[in-house]
Amino acid sequence: MSGELEGRVAVVTGGSRGIGLGIARELAEAGARVALVARNGDRAAEAAATLSGEGHGGFACDVSNAAAVKETVAAIESSLGPVFLLVNNAGITRDNILLRLQDEDWDEVIDVNLKGAFNFTRALTRGMMKRREGVIVNITSVVGLMGNAGQSNYAASKAGLVGLTKSVARELASRGIRCNAVAPGYVRTDMTSELTEEQTSALLSQIPLGRLGDPEDIAPVVRFLAGPGGRYITGQVIAVDGGMVM
Ligand code: NAP
Repeated sequence: MSGELEGRVAVVTGGSRGIGLGIARELAEAGARVALVARNGDRAAEAAATLSGEGHGGFACDVSNAAAVKETVAAIESSLGPVFLLVNNAGITRDNILLRLQDEDWDEVIDVNLKGAFNFTRALTRGMMKRREGVIVNITSVVGLMGNAGQSNYAASKAGLVGLTKSVARELASRGIRCNAVAPGYVRTDMTSELTEEQTSALLSQIPLGRLGDPEDIAPVVRFLAGPGGRYITGQVIAVDGGMVM
């Protein structure tokens, strides 16, 4: 297979299902060897086995655990090689109205969604800096740009990712590293499977393109940012949301 990411190694956190698996599929189509990271390592390995091409792998790791991330990065680099592309996609929700949010709902969401991205970025950028090349794509959300009632913890984590993206982009541009964020709107995955019909129709009324998204709508944008077409783009947040935010 030949593609613009031929011979490149990519890490996709939360790659075992949903948007992350869609991204992993697209990167594999572009020729990358992909490391899929999730807490459930068996599921990540099963997902890796479904990707096109050879040399992919599944890795069990909780992104919020800095020591585990360091070990996982070492394991990925020793089995797949130096990492060119990092996609910080692992994310969770623990929704509730502000007054009912528990400390652990706040901490868990910030630890996985925001600190997890920091953990992987810090662990991988040393090598990228030495090689003077690398790409980071953080998966934020339109909710991080607009806010959302009942999701203050999640929205704060996703807005935090925007600040992380822009700071990393400024700090590491001179070392040949680009960092951008993709902000999906509402995408059909396990995360959104519990929307009622009423919630879905309320959402649809806010989406000019008139439908919810699928992982396949998000993945090509990550591929574009990682490839040669994205070479002069850094520090940007690209909404892929059917027009919800404009
Ligand atoms: P999903 O279907 O729930 O999948 C989440 C993925 O993250 C799974 O692979 C899961 O595997 C992994 N994960 C969760 N916690 C983890 C942890 N602590 N360490 C490592 N991996 C972990 O979610 P999704 O809808 O695809 O969402 C993917 C990303 O897109 C998230 O960051 C989400 O916030 C963002 N997003 C989603 C939507 C949407 O509408 N779906 C919209 C905007 C943004 P394990 O459970 O095995 O760990």
